[in-house]
Amino acid sequence: MKARAWVLTEGGKPLESRTIEIPEPSAGEVIVEVDACGLCHTDLGYADGSVAPRHALPLVLGHEIVGKVVQAGPGADAWVGRSVIVPAVLPCGECAFCRAGRGNACPRQKMPGNDCDGGFATHVLVPARPLVAIDDAPPTIDRRELAVVADAVSTAYQALRRADVRDGDVAFIVGAGGVGGYAAQIARALGAHVVALDVDAAKLEAIAHHGAERTVTLAGRAPKEVRKEAHGIAGEWKVPSLRWRILECSGHPDGQALAYALLSQGATMVQVGYTPATVTLRLSNVMAFDATVHGSWGCPPELYGDVLRLIYSGRVVLTPFVEHAPMSRVVEWLDAMAHHRLTRRLVLDPRT
Ligand SMILES: [Zn+2]
Ligand SMILES: [Zn+2]
Repeated sequence: MKARAWVLTEGGKPLESRTIEIPEPSAGEVIVEVDACGLCHTDLGYADGSVAPRHALPLVLGHEIVGKVVQAGPGADAWVGRSVIVPAVLPCGECAFCRAGRGNACPRQKMPGNDCDGGFATHVLVPARPLVAIDDAPPTIDRRELAVVADAVSTAYQALRRADVRDGDVAFIVGAGGVGGYAAQIARALGAHVVALDVDAAKLEAIAHHGAERTVTLAGRAPKEVRKEAHGIAGEWKVPSLRWRILECSGHPDGQALAYALLSQGATMVQVGYTPATVTLRLSNVMAFDATVHGSWGCPPELYGDVLRLIYSGRVVLTPFVEHAPMSRVVEWLDAMAHHRLTRRLVLDPRT
């Protein structure tokens, strides 16, 4: 099958629009006709050459895919005609990690647009097993917006689950855009009090209407002062630090240092954001506080049902944080992202 694709040929060069050949699906594989693919910061890292994808170039980028199954290999016929989300993390489904419900950490996992061709195309070849059906989405939901579930929303959900966030906890969300914004909404839906912290006033303003009960600005402030304010808010709510859940979603060294500084007795921190930078921390704080620090990567496909229920019920909203755009202008959108001109997650339509 022929497909139109936007291909990375060399880091730092604009993506090229090409016609590519999608191979016949093998056993357990399907071809998805792409309805939309989200544009993620990770794509920008590959496109500008600052991060090398695991697969050799040329490579079709894009890992937030939603679409319809149009062709199936042996054993995957039941998927034909179904609307699906392609998770950004595609676990093998068979190894010890997958069997233990930790498929997001599967050593044999594949990520579209990194390990294999991704969703900046009209069609993509993927394994069928990890797909998540969305045929039952309510008609009020624009299915193309569900593309962001494949990474930003599900990653936030898995991180909160890793932190064991429960009713009455305080969730400190460091970095209120993207994954952090969804983390704020989901934490609130799970019954936690939410404090969002960010340098960007516009992001704090947006999240104040969706999840965050309190916001703390970081711009131009010393970490000690921020720590005092954030801890003071939890004190007002009379929630002991044992029930503090700190999510580092900024992926910035300052954000990581701040999230770590928010730890206190018995508190839990989860590292969600990514930066290649090194941060110097006094690890002994974890010992002295009897604290817990987790990492969280992606989300196992079996948890997507929980995420979708939150969205279908309206407890987590996507529309105010998503903007539709034609994929044919992806080079422009990557440039806009590089210059911090995008305020919402772009969901790209490959037919336009
Ligand atoms: Zn991503
Ligand atoms: Zn596995």
